[in-house]
Amino acid sequence: MSEDQRVALVTGGCGGIGSAVCKRLAADGFRITTNYRSEEKASKWLQEMEDLGFSAAVYKADVRDFNECQQMVSDIEKDLGRIDVIVNNAGITRDTTLRKMEKSQWDDVMDTNLDSVFNVVRPALNGMLERGFGRIVNIASINGQKGQLGQTNYCAAKAGMHGFTKALAQEVAYKGVTVNTVSPGYIATDMVMAVPEAIREKIIKQIPVGRLGRPEEIAAAVAYLVSDEAAFVTGSDLSINGGQHMS
Ligand code: NDP
Repeated sequence: MSEDQRVALVTGGCGGIGSAVCKRLAADGFRITTNYRSEEKASKWLQEMEDLGFSAAVYKADVRDFNECQQMVSDIEKDLGRIDVIVNNAGITRDTTLRKMEKSQWDDVMDTNLDSVFNVVRPALNGMLERGFGRIVNIASINGQKGQLGQTNYCAAKAGMHGFTKALAQEVAYKGVTVNTVSPGYIATDMVMAVPEAIREKIIKQIPVGRLGRPEEIAAAVAYLVSDEAAFVTGSDLSINGGQHMS
């Protein structure tokens, strides 16, 4: 890798949206890294990236665990010299109404979707500030903007991500570091394609554009936000939802 090649860490890069983001950023010239929990998924992902002609690296880390994230950041900085871009994309759902929600379902979603943002950004931030350049993109959700029955945990975590975005954006703007949120609507990943077709059709009827989004459409927005051209965009929440919710 060349000295000035920028390094992007995309959490959950082996997943549906994450892998589209990784491919797009790699195509745009970034050196790509992601975390993994399963060796099998990580080696499949590495092979896929290699087949596309991209060099990429994987680091074992659970985003719920601060120490593991700190170690991952330090290993990436040691191996690749720096982290210029963080895309906080790892996320889960544990849906049920609040009346039935177990504490573990609340904690799992808060830890994975929100605490993870602190766990990954905190150890990498000083390096960005010292170099005078950084791009942080938090992948939230339409449901964090509008609320969704059965998702108090997920909606709270995703809305919390944007609160983090707005506060940190103010803290680091003067040092060339931008922080933005992307809020996808329903995207055709395995998660959404596993929903029974009849329910999926009902969801699609609520989307003015008339279809599910594509992971590549999220990746294109991320690519813009991490580019030099987006230096004046910070603290924003970009909705990509086919018109399903206009905030
Ligand atoms: P996927 O389930 O395909 O990918 C999620 C990724 O996150 C996986 O790689 C998964 O790894 C990783 N991950 C989950 N928990 C952890 C953890 N504790 N530590 C490390 N990695 C973890 O989901 P999508 O691609 O569909 O979603 C990506 C993001 O986009 C999520 O934040 C989601 O909330 C958001 N989003 C998705 C929408 C959609 O319609 N698909 C709509 C709106 C938002 P592993 O394989 O090890 O579990």
